[in-house]
Amino acid sequence: MKKNIKTVAIIGGGPSGCALATLLNRQGFKVAVFYIAKRPEIIVGESLVPAIIPMLRELGIEDEVKSYSTYKPGASVWVNKDEEATSPFSYGQGSIPDYAYNVPRVKFDKTLFDLAVREGVQFFEHIAQIEKTGNGDELKLGDETIKFINNYFNGQPDLIVDASGRSRTISRLLNIPTKNGYRKDVALFSHMIDTEKIEPYNIHLHRLEKGWAWRIPLPDRISIGVVINPKHLETFGSTKEERYDNYLKSEPTLQKFTSMGNRATGVAQYDNYQLISQQMYGTNWVLNGDAGGFLDPIFSSGLFLAIKGSFRLARIIGDGKNPNYAQYQKEQMLELEVWQKLIDTWYSGRLFTLFKVGQDRLDTAIGRFLGPHIQKHLTRIFSGEAVYVGYSRRFLNFVTGSMISIMKMVGLHNRDVRDLEIK
Ligand SMILES: Cc1cc2nc3c(=O)[nH]c(=O)nc-3n(C[C@H](O)[C@H](O)[C@H](O)COP(=O)(O)OP(=O)(O)OC[C@H]3O[C@@H](n4cnc5c(N)ncnc54)[C@H](O)[C@@H]3O)c2cc1C
Repeated sequence: MKKNIKTVAIIGGGPSGCALATLLNRQGFKVAVFYIAKRPEIIVGESLVPAIIPMLRELGIEDEVKSYSTYKPGASVWVNKDEEATSPFSYGQGSIPDYAYNVPRVKFDKTLFDLAVREGVQFFEHIAQIEKTGNGDELKLGDETIKFINNYFNGQPDLIVDASGRSRTISRLLNIPTKNGYRKDVALFSHMIDTEKIEPYNIHLHRLEKGWAWRIPLPDRISIGVVINPKHLETFGSTKEERYDNYLKSEPTLQKFTSMGNRATGVAQYDNYQLISQQMYGTNWVLNGDAGGFLDPIFSSGLFLAIKGSFRLARIIGDGKNPNYAQYQKEQMLELEVWQKLIDTWYSGRLFTLFKVGQDRLDTAIGRFLGPHIQKHLTRIFSGEAVYVGYSRRFLNFVTGSMISIMKMVGLHNRDVRDLEIK
């Protein structure tokens, strides 16, 4: 690994790239970000978790984010179209704030971009050319790029950070092995107006007959996304718009909440997003944000993990003359692994089974004893805190695992967990 880093080139001006650029710039590094100014009409990543709030405060942007977002006091989960379980974040009683925001993503990204500009980070509107150099995995900026930036680094930068999101620029160039998630869903989403109102502005997550859906209340519109198996989706039309519109009309839950609605935007499609690079650093490069790995949209962990990774990387790069990237990779991988376990409780049906068992048993002695405790730790899944509190993790593991199995064995509930898995 290259030591003694003074200059850093960051590919990608999204949240992870801009947050990292700001943090490194504050520590005195010479930083340049390569970005693409043209943005899609709508971008996923609109629901934040409370665990992100302390980082927004440290960056100094919470007030600005608040000014154009909706205040998110909790999460509501629907097992079917009529059964809802709401968890205000205050039930979590943890050490993190008990709220978050639902953000219009284009504005959120601009806030982070403007912050970096204000603080003196140099931006270049240019798709950086990256090339291999030497025999190993060393990389360099191509001649054309060096020329474009007017030799800003006075030669090559000491470190190249890939924050290019799902473009995964460096992983693709170096053919880095990738771990693919087990879900092969397609996500389609749009912004709608005139739909069923959501108040307070919780995120609503719906288990559907096939797949699941989100409803995220933004100022004056609602983001509605469906996450479904592509084979099933194909039967709803030949374009993404047809498939989205027809699916909304045909699915009983979505019909209930969107039948009066109209699309205010086009439909955006995301697929093959469950990817984790198995190597996150090399001789003079490192991966950040989604470019390193993304798990799944459920539980809205993406932006939190992307920005947390930037904080972690800024600390490691700034930690003297010999940045410990192996430590960075270890921490990133561990974090993704723990989130994955929580995500699995959603797809396996265990989380929904727990809700059902809770409803059935609320009036029994065991229900009264365990109910509030379960509610507290379940809420921490939606706030992001469950991942970091060992007790919450172990307790949730128990209640969504052994406890359900034992209750079934002794006849305290009769449903098979698989009845509620996400197909
Ligand atoms: C269906 C779905 C729903 C999601 N919902 C949520 C949610 O509700 N909440 C949440 O927190 N997260 C959510 N996410 C995840 C979230 O969108 C990402 O985790 C987040 O955007 C990662 O930020 P990033 O900066 O790493 O990457 P990005 O946001 O993708 O930013 C990368 C930037 O790099 C630029 N770029 C790419 N290539 C180049 C290049 N060669 N040169 C210069 N620039 C380049 C791109 O234009 C882009 O601006 C969701 C993801 C999916 C797939």
